[in-house]
Amino acid sequence: MATKLAATHARLFKNMFVCKNCKTKVRADSRKILEGKVRCRKCLKKAFRPIRKK
Ligand SMILES: [Zn+2]
Repeated sequence: MATKLAATHARLFKNMFVCKNCKTKVRADSRKILEGKVRCRKCLKKAFRPIRKK
């Protein structure tokens, strides 16, 4: 069932980013993150990291 789990994981964490400043989770297209078009709704910063990395 590893594949199913991975698929679920991908669905949950795909396009999810965490604000480096206030740790708010934001769902956004990774391209938009890279282009700097996404802003944290809490602190309005544009620093994001992928949700899986620490
Ligand atoms: Zn923030």
